[in-house]
Amino acid sequence: MSFLPEEPVTALPGIGPARAEKLAGLGLTTVGDLLTWYPRDYEDRTRYSTIAGAEPGASVCIPAMVATQPYTAHIRKGLDLVKVKAVDDLGVLEITFFNQSYLRTALHVGETYVFFGRTEGEGRRKRMTNPAFEPQGVGHVTGRIVPIYPLTEGISNNLLTDSIRRALPEPGTALPDPLPDSLRAEHELIDLATAYRWIHAPESWEQLEAARRRLVFEELFFLSIGLCRLKGRRDRAQGPVCRGGRLEDYLTYLPFSFTAAQRRAAEDCARDLASGVPMNRLIQGDVGSGKTAVAAAAVYLTAKSGYQSALMAPTEILAEQHFRTLSELLEPAGIRVALLTGSTRVRARRDLNERLALGMVDLLIGTHALISEQVTIPDLGLVITDEQHRFGVNQRAALTAKGEHPHVLVMSATPIPRTLALMIYGDLDVSVIDELPPGRQPVETFRVHTDKRQRMYGFVRKQVEEGHQVYIVCPSVEETPEQEAQLPGAPELQSVTEYAKTLQTKVFPDLRVDYVHGKMKPKAKEAVMAAFAAGELDILVSTTVIEVGVDVANATLMIVENAERFGLSQLHQLRGRVGRGSAKSWCVLVSDARGETAQTRLKALCSTNDGFLIAEEDLKLRGPGDFFGSRQHGLPQLKVADLAGDTRVLQEAQQAARELLARDPDLEEPENRPVKARVIALFEDSPDIFN
Ligand code: ADP
Ligand code: MG
Repeated sequence: MSFLPEEPVTALPGIGPARAEKLAGLGLTTVGDLLTWYPRDYEDRTRYSTIAGAEPGASVCIPAMVATQPYTAHIRKGLDLVKVKAVDDLGVLEITFFNQSYLRTALHVGETYVFFGRTEGEGRRKRMTNPAFEPQGVGHVTGRIVPIYPLTEGISNNLLTDSIRRALPEPGTALPDPLPDSLRAEHELIDLATAYRWIHAPESWEQLEAARRRLVFEELFFLSIGLCRLKGRRDRAQGPVCRGGRLEDYLTYLPFSFTAAQRRAAEDCARDLASGVPMNRLIQGDVGSGKTAVAAAAVYLTAKSGYQSALMAPTEILAEQHFRTLSELLEPAGIRVALLTGSTRVRARRDLNERLALGMVDLLIGTHALISEQVTIPDLGLVITDEQHRFGVNQRAALTAKGEHPHVLVMSATPIPRTLALMIYGDLDVSVIDELPPGRQPVETFRVHTDKRQRMYGFVRKQVEEGHQVYIVCPSVEETPEQEAQLPGAPELQSVTEYAKTLQTKVFPDLRVDYVHGKMKPKAKEAVMAAFAAGELDILVSTTVIEVGVDVANATLMIVENAERFGLSQLHQLRGRVGRGSAKSWCVLVSDARGETAQTRLKALCSTNDGFLIAEEDLKLRGPGDFFGSRQHGLPQLKVADLAGDTRVLQEAQQAARELLARDPDLEEPENRPVKARVIALFEDSPDIFN
């Protein structure tokens, strides 16, 4: 018998209210939920052996007959053992279960079971600890490829496997398939019912591969269709036509000449701005590549065409800094720049609104405060967001909604591997700035252990004596879970305030040291940042509030304490705060961590300055889900597809999506209606996708 995806899990035989409640804890309430709860991994339990033939250390299935009554030994409080001996023709297998006393009654003398586990010992006597087992002939957890599900508290893999197995359609039955038959035939994809059976209970690696391919294709196909529609909707809209200025004129106001990459990016923008179709462009460039000056060019062209621009930054520090830099870059060209943040006073706000209404502001820079309802930008023609990954699609949309299809420019310093960019920014065009301004020297990166701290401080002093400035970043106190901070053996965490105090009083009493962290009042924070930028401080101790975008060219040394606590991309961003001028710069990662991941990360950072390589490495280490945090980019979550690994299928699915939409743009043909339904469900955040 087969069940429909929309039926409740309690429709399945053997799933009663108690188990249904456990499953509901994972959000699994329907048959369809179970079917799409995909394994995160598989264990190969297909190899069989006799007891005597089992290689010590190998994980194998061993059929053996239980020869002794299982008995429980109570070792101490919290430690019970069940011991049992099983035999085959030649050997004896001694089995021990830890803290699973209930198994005493599950094994019966004289019956044959298949045990799967790691064997230890030599010759005819072998040992196994905590094996998986089942009566011979069942074949659910032994003798096959066993799925391993993402688990949470209170639900075992066996219970999940069993529940999902009950939901699987029987061989020969079909499920309503959202992929049209013609498409499946063309791309050699198996049908949905078979895909569910083979992804959860594959009988071979080939079956598993076929199932994955089909499900990954499906997922990326629907995603691509949605993204194509989003993009198509934009292409039909009428945007502000900005043809009033010339890029060449703007360049004469710049204190430097553009790199070739900056010029290309600026030309891309100029073309989009003049096209009449709203621009939607991502400028992607490594830290220090000079994205701001390119954005300024776009602002210039927009202003010369009589439109206003708005730039939204994720933090006040960054908004302030953009205000300073962009004022410098643009005011000589007659562009009027204003700032609005959460700490702008009511009076100033009112005044600003008036100037905006009168068209006396060409560029408004600010934080989220820009989205507030009270802010009206009557001739909004260009919206710029800095550090895209910190804004959800919705926030970007809220700002965009203040104008009529304004142009959109996104600047990102997070180098995103191309496959991921395709998905996350699927409806954006991308300009890559793959070149640093001339004269930059690569930042040299070292890892040091804490026992070398005094030598490192000597190096700090040397930098300061040469007239340079130093950042020291510590993990923020608030971010550290308490238990972890107290774990014996956990490296002692450096908290910003205490660290700064020690430096001020003990290590560098003669130097100018101050600190910033996220919990400080914005005004206080800005005062410190401004002092550092003005060269009035030698050493700035900080949390990652300085992570993105802060620009002080005279800073030549970045020290990161407890470096193992930061992600790769984050460390790369931090390192990007130095090496912004012509002087040689260094980054020192302080860490005593021995863990393998930490070692890999720190090593990767020491060996390359290439943000793209680092991002790829990060993606490998952390997986795409973690890369941006869940749903931050506002796109549907992927269940099976792995954007780092499934590039080929991604390209195939995108191509198929484009072809389908070319034939049937609104997906009105009967064969395509299920596709449309799925895309609408997937893009629930953009309900008007097919209007
Ligand atoms: P990011 O891409 O990290 O935002 P910025 O726009 O902050 O980089 O630029 C980094 C620094 O390089 C700034 O001080 C900026 O003035 C300078 N800069 C940008 N473009 C050039 C260039 N073509 N030549 C020299 N300096 C440049
Ligand atoms: Mg920047």
